[in-house]
Amino acid sequence: MEVLLNEENNKNLEQSQHVYKLISDTSNDGFVYRDHKTDKVLISDKFRKMCGVTGKDEYEICRKFHESIDEEYVRLYLMKMDNALKHHDDTFEMEVYLDTTKRWLRVNIYFLYDSDGKISSQINYYKDITDYIDQKQQLEYWAYYDILTGLYNRNYFYSTMENLLQKADKEGENIFIMYVDIDDFKKINDSLGFEYGDELVVKVSEFLKRYMSERVHIARFNSDEFVIGIYGGEFADAKKIYDELKLRTTKHFVLNGGIQVFITFSVGVVKYPQDGKTVVDLIGNADIAMCNVKENGKNGICLFENSMVNSFIQNVRLESLLKKAIQEKKFELYYQPQFDAITKELRGFEALIRWNDEAEGFISPNQFIPLAEKNGSIIQIGDWVLRQAFSDYVIFRSNYGFDGILSINISAIQFKEESFETKILDLVDEFKIEADRIELEITESIFIGLDKRVLEVIDRLRARGIKISLDDFGTGYSSLSYLKNIPIDTLKIDKSFIDTMLDEETTSIITSSIVSMVQKLGFETIAEGVETAEQLEYLKKINCKSIQGFLLGKPMSFENACKIL
Ligand code: C2E
Ligand code: CA
Ligand code: CA
Repeated sequence: MEVLLNEENNKNLEQSQHVYKLISDTSNDGFVYRDHKTDKVLISDKFRKMCGVTGKDEYEICRKFHESIDEEYVRLYLMKMDNALKHHDDTFEMEVYLDTTKRWLRVNIYFLYDSDGKISSQINYYKDITDYIDQKQQLEYWAYYDILTGLYNRNYFYSTMENLLQKADKEGENIFIMYVDIDDFKKINDSLGFEYGDELVVKVSEFLKRYMSERVHIARFNSDEFVIGIYGGEFADAKKIYDELKLRTTKHFVLNGGIQVFITFSVGVVKYPQDGKTVVDLIGNADIAMCNVKENGKNGICLFENSMVNSFIQNVRLESLLKKAIQEKKFELYYQPQFDAITKELRGFEALIRWNDEAEGFISPNQFIPLAEKNGSIIQIGDWVLRQAFSDYVIFRSNYGFDGILSINISAIQFKEESFETKILDLVDEFKIEADRIELEITESIFIGLDKRVLEVIDRLRARGIKISLDDFGTGYSSLSYLKNIPIDTLKIDKSFIDTMLDEETTSIITSSIVSMVQKLGFETIAEGVETAEQLEYLKKINCKSIQGFLLGKPMSFENACKIL
């Protein structure tokens, strides 16, 4: 505001007060006018509102105003004031924060001098700039921080680490960078939904924040990936963080609505300067070390080694080979028979995909299915499996009179596809197979959370006769009590139970309780991976209905499956 008043007598003063009143009544901003000669103070209503004080007494209002701003601002104000008067300045500007109203004000102060050069009056002009400051702070915040977690973002982490590399060079120090990834986060996200996934990420971030210090910098890189930079020290420092993280995972994380999730972490570590010269290389190699942990069964930590680059490249290669295999339909279905434990009668077949690459040879579904789930191609693969399995079944039936069950593995991603239900029902119609001959094997990750749609799809499919089988039971989040609430027909006890039930008492107790509980609930049990006669005897003893495993039949080609019919 330009106030160019230069009055010398009272008349002028009155006039200026009048002008001041006019402006202050019509403006959205607040004014305080002070006549230095008479020490008279005028305050506009807007100013009163702005600083949240009431009352008529101007001096009292000014006192309250000063009380509600921090000493630091008062000091700055007095200093600027002093400076301005010394130099005969007309104006200065500053920002103050009002504790009482939690608002930011910008104040412009204008001075009027008389002909002797003495100050005659001053006008303080206040503008509420809280929204502007908020926006500015938000922008600054977003430039450095990850919005969901409040950890550093990727860019800021890069620039922080770049500075630290230079510092380390000068000081002859090491830097350790840890790449931390939540295992099977995708499963959690797919089954519980993004909100829960995000909530879990926030919980993990809160845990990690305790390590932040001058030496330790933590960023969130991708959805469930964190990178920790440790200046100086030893590998043991990284290991210590990991050990504490691992200890934390022995307890579940509790999410909204009381949902409990157990998670584990895979962590790759690099050391500067040995494992890379630039931040990009270092983080890339830490990522490769992390992938190495994943390949070796997840839930661990490992320090980067150059040889890991090869296996990483191999994975990238696998992904491109897989793409080609999908286009050229280079897959085959094998069938593993399932038998009644007592009568040894054939119950049905589980369809298992096989991929024999011309150059690479046999590639296990354990290797490429997770990859296909990661890159989404599981949908195309799954579509191929379904169609192939249905058409094979028609031949089993028409040529060999087979009317057993056909079990097909369905990945959670496939199941959650919008069109999945119609796909299945259309295939049943098209191939004219009785719905109750088809069994879909799903894993329990599909049930965590309260995705009503999944349960509705299952209910509708079951109402049409399709069987639902819960695969790999015992490997995931399972608790016996939740079995009561899920709509399934068959439960497959995971091979890991069968492997150890004869040696470990706890496992044998768990296995027999699963079987008896499942029986009571009216589902069928199938034991997976039965390899020895002793295992079979024990399973018979505890009343397990059906068995599947190398003992009675390995997965076999379509032709060989026809031969046993
Ligand atoms: P799964 O569904 O648990 O299938 C059983 C796996 O255990 C099969 O491995 C089978 O060959 C193996 N197996 C069966 N009996 C025994 C035994 O007595 N001893 C031992 N050591 N192994 C036994 P496979 O065929 O390599 O498949 C691995 C996994 O890949 C499957 O585990 C399943 O999760 C997935 N998979 C296979 N085919 C498909 C498919 O068409 N679609 C989807 N989504 N996943 C599939
Ligand atoms: Ca299966
Ligand atoms: Ca299984």
